[in-house]
Amino acid sequence: MANPYLLGVDVGGTQTRVAIARRPRGSMRRTVFSSPARSDPKLLIDGIVEAAHDLIARTNGEIVAGVVACAGTVDTATGVIVESPNLPMVREFAMADALKEHLDIPIEIENDATAAAHAVHQMGAGRGTKEMIYLTISTGIGGGIVSGGKLLRGIAGAAGEFGHMTISMNTGIQCPCGLSSGCFEAMASGTAVARMARMRIEAGNDSVLAEKAAAGGSESITARDVFDAAEQDDALARAVVDEAGYALGVGLANIVNIFNPELIVLGGGLARGQDEYVQHGISVARERAFKLQNRTVRFEVTELGDDNGLRGALLLARELASRTRRAARRSG
Ligand SMILES: [Zn+2]
Repeated sequence: MANPYLLGVDVGGTQTRVAIARRPRGSMRRTVFSSPARSDPKLLIDGIVEAAHDLIARTNGEIVAGVVACAGTVDTATGVIVESPNLPMVREFAMADALKEHLDIPIEIENDATAAAHAVHQMGAGRGTKEMIYLTISTGIGGGIVSGGKLLRGIAGAAGEFGHMTISMNTGIQCPCGLSSGCFEAMASGTAVARMARMRIEAGNDSVLAEKAAAGGSESITARDVFDAAEQDDALARAVVDEAGYALGVGLANIVNIFNPELIVLGGGLARGQDEYVQHGISVARERAFKLQNRTVRFEVTELGDDNGLRGALLLARELASRTRRAARRSG
């Protein structure tokens, strides 16, 4: 292959990013489109295929392998997305097969947070570590695990669903996953912060946010509004942010005690944007974790930002390309 390119895709609840690159750490040619909201995944597949064709057409190269990082639990062996609370259209969808039909290259699907963890470990804050956890905190909570210097995937490729470990059994706060209440994601994500504030305002509690709720409906209140109001010492917002920060700390302490990692890297919009909330979570984790685990863990907020998933997909695409080459050599 004269000029081989890798394809990396990151499908999120709101945006789909598509990139091609010669090397996963090198410069990318990239594009982004809004993830289609329709119930049919065909639009998403068409969008990815069109973007890949457009990007490669501007080079004299050829795409040799692609990896799609997608929100949800992914059966990595079959490339089927089994469930995806924030992207319902891809539920039970054979995404790898659908893409292979159009692109005619080896394709694998990976959970987006696992792909991001791989990037953080290979080229970000986790470089050189053996025992690392990556946790992304934004509208949802996801994560990936590196143990013994390698991604820990579980038997079906679905390990690391940190967002759905139960933090409290008796909250009555339902999680988008539908399986449980009191999930980590339902108590400490941006969505959780907004939802908790809305519930209290709807119950008639006083807050500077009540005005916005009265004008635009309580659904108009965002996590950002709640954090801003907390900064202005609004008591309701302050209480919500404190509770979410405490829940973050409980979740982090569980992770510290179970995995005894040397490093926990925190990424995602909330981790990078709300320093006080994150620091609260870390201090609660340090109070609750066992002594030895606590002594040996560091916390860091990642600098790679939004590109973690995309870089992880490209790194995994390079591994897929190498495996494919080796297999071809053996059989040829
Ligand atoms: Zn859940």
